[in-house]
Amino acid sequence: MEARRRGLSGWWLPLDAPTYVDVVTHADSRELRQRFYKAWSTRASDQGKREWDNSDNIRKILTLRGDIARLVGFSNYAEYSLATKMATTTRAVIEFLEQLASHTKEAARAELDRIQGMAAHPIEAWDTAYYLEKLKQQQYAISEEALRQYFPVNRVKQGLFDLASRLYGVVLTRNDQVSVWHESVSYFDVADESGTIIGGFYTDLFARSGKRSGAWIDECVARKNLAGENVLPVGYLVCNFARPDENGLSLLTHNDVLTFFHEFGHMLHHLLTKVDYPSLAGINGVPWDAVELPSQFMENFAWYYDVLVKSSAHYRSGEVLPEDMHRKLDDSRHLGAALSMLRQIEFALFDFRLHTEHHEGVDVMKVLNEVRTEVGLVRHPQYNRMPHAFSHVFAGGYAAGYYSYKWAEVLAADAFAAFEESGIFHKPTAARFRSEILEVGGSRDFMQAFVAFRGRQPTIDALLRHSGIGKAA
Ligand SMILES: [Zn+2]
Repeated sequence: MEARRRGLSGWWLPLDAPTYVDVVTHADSRELRQRFYKAWSTRASDQGKREWDNSDNIRKILTLRGDIARLVGFSNYAEYSLATKMATTTRAVIEFLEQLASHTKEAARAELDRIQGMAAHPIEAWDTAYYLEKLKQQQYAISEEALRQYFPVNRVKQGLFDLASRLYGVVLTRNDQVSVWHESVSYFDVADESGTIIGGFYTDLFARSGKRSGAWIDECVARKNLAGENVLPVGYLVCNFARPDENGLSLLTHNDVLTFFHEFGHMLHHLLTKVDYPSLAGINGVPWDAVELPSQFMENFAWYYDVLVKSSAHYRSGEVLPEDMHRKLDDSRHLGAALSMLRQIEFALFDFRLHTEHHEGVDVMKVLNEVRTEVGLVRHPQYNRMPHAFSHVFAGGYAAGYYSYKWAEVLAADAFAAFEESGIFHKPTAARFRSEILEVGGSRDFMQAFVAFRGRQPTIDALLRHSGIGKAA
């Protein structure tokens, strides 16, 4: 359609992330994958048009960050970044990432060997996603379309609310008296076991034109209990699920289900808080590298059959998700997990080293190549300029903070392991999780909060296990 609009024949493929992912995952033409990879990995660099080259911007940004850090007495920007995070020292972050990498490498190499066996040529950077997808189809024969017939959005929502009720005793009830900004938006009151309302939230779940893409939650009102004024927390949970058809039916993919659980985990963090000061209530004041704990923690439940039974019902027959489909889904969970973990570690180590060891005049590509030599397995050609479009770090808030993704995943996996040990619906464990972690917001040192819940400091074991990566000796 876009090609025709432009008076061209064939297809018009824009250079954006969803298209890139689709091309390198599904395009049978290796030449097309390679061309797209090259265009993608040289964006805004010295390999393309000069006016879009970010090389100078990178240098400037790193220099200014070094200045900022030294102005307030830190020796580099990474130290400055950690001042407000859960991780305490730059050494601890580097060691954390290196430890994770060393345990992951063997499993990632096995994954790479497996897809190498399927290709008649050496696997290059533009081949990995394609062959992983082929392997997934061959091995697990799991049809996304068949699966989503079991996940009508209202059933998933009910399952999620039931889970919250089972874990924390909270009751969520739709309240149509509250005005909303769109007909598809709903408002829910949240009450504790005694029936007392403790907060509320809106759900705005479906894509529509003009709406920002992605999924997120945020607060409308933070909890406050100051000078006799008691204000309850209110939030909104936004997704972009397929809009309902004329019968009001919207079917979710399992990935959508994970997204819903994830955002709802953030929402519980916002709603269950007992902190009286709004700047520290709920998600406020929680360190960046810990704020994803409650959300990633909730995702774990969406892999469990006992939870999915309550969250699924075939949209025609009403039948719950069959056990063999769940088994296939669960088996496919780990496919490519080690390679993807290693890739995230590569990004995180690059970001962190850049802001620890180097400030001005640093050769960014040299740092990247060192990191790739150390932890990378997939070869990247010399022309690759990943840093030039690494907007999380150069244009967003993740500078010397990209490690936070993995850090929080470790916390979430380890916290969930406590539920696996006790039984995932074990009320005392849930009560402890609620009081030590969800209720305290940013009012308490996060490591102390974690230790109070878990009885010890976090370890990486559960994340490795959940990712299907055996802990190497
Ligand atoms: Zn999140």
